[in-house]
Amino acid sequence: MKPAFCKISSVNIDGRGSNRLMIVLKTKGCEYAQKTGGGCTVCGFLNHAEPNITGEEMLDQLDFVLKTFDLAEVEEIDILTLGSFLNDSEVNPVTRLEIITRLSEISHLKRVSIESRAEYVTVDKIKQIKEILGKGKIMEFAIGLESSNDYLRNKIIKKGLSKQSFEKTVAKVKEAGVHLLTYLLIKPPHVSEKEAITDAVESAAYVFHTAGKIGVSARVAFEPVFVCENTHLETLYLQSQYRLLNLWSVVEVIKKAHDYGCLFIGLSDENLSLERMPHSCTSCGGKIIDAIERFNKSQDISEILDLDCQCKSQYIERREKGEI
Ligand code: SF4
Ligand SMILES: [Zn+2]
Repeated sequence: MKPAFCKISSVNIDGRGSNRLMIVLKTKGCEYAQKTGGGCTVCGFLNHAEPNITGEEMLDQLDFVLKTFDLAEVEEIDILTLGSFLNDSEVNPVTRLEIITRLSEISHLKRVSIESRAEYVTVDKIKQIKEILGKGKIMEFAIGLESSNDYLRNKIIKKGLSKQSFEKTVAKVKEAGVHLLTYLLIKPPHVSEKEAITDAVESAAYVFHTAGKIGVSARVAFEPVFVCENTHLETLYLQSQYRLLNLWSVVEVIKKAHDYGCLFIGLSDENLSLERMPHSCTSCGGKIIDAIERFNKSQDISEILDLDCQCKSQYIERREKGEI
């Protein structure tokens, strides 16, 4: 069985440019989404869910990727499921530990990320994974906070996550002795480009401040929002109540947040967007994406600062007037 999505892209590991392989494994799907009749309003992962999938089929997907991709220059593997890797009813513990065991055998890997909602996180589960990976690899625990703004996170995105739960989870990450990766959205529904920039930058400041206070090494992964099929966001988009994010806003977020700590900007749509992705004009869209990809690797802001295009002044004018 093939996974839902996989892609090799640039990343920075402890100050050094490298490559990461992201794998989205098909699972029975996010329990939170199933219990709440759809889950987070921007998430399309249920589209990939396989309700009757077995543990063996999940391992098959991993093996398929490990055999198909050339991993010689890949030093990080991010295992995403369609929900929470630490939820025993989505990924049974035997399968979970076998996935980690197979990754531990790739000797040149430097970092492995796994992701979960807060309610399934225990210090023991994280420690067990860390121990299997062994001393030579960084284990990173990833969580979707999406926004530090309570209204946006829980009323608009419907994340079902309090800041208190997030901070308790960061404390567990600290106790388990691993690193933290926090996903933040850029431009959830019902915000303008200007508000989206402010929200993303403030959210990154909150994450790095919280991690610093608790004493955890942290990165932020920004997820510029794209429109997935069969989501509340798609309904809004089709009713012209959601406008696709402009890539210049992503550039602005990087400029304002790069001083806080290590950033990663997600550029994939996990085969879910039908091309309804963040955009700019035809002459700069590709250039901005390439520059962001290089920033993901180098964390060097200079090329981002130099980006320009004839469409930029109009973008700024419309952004400042609140038209977009
Ligand atoms: S974003 Fe995560 S928690 Fe929310 S519905 Fe999607 S998989 Fe579930
Ligand atoms: Zn342009």
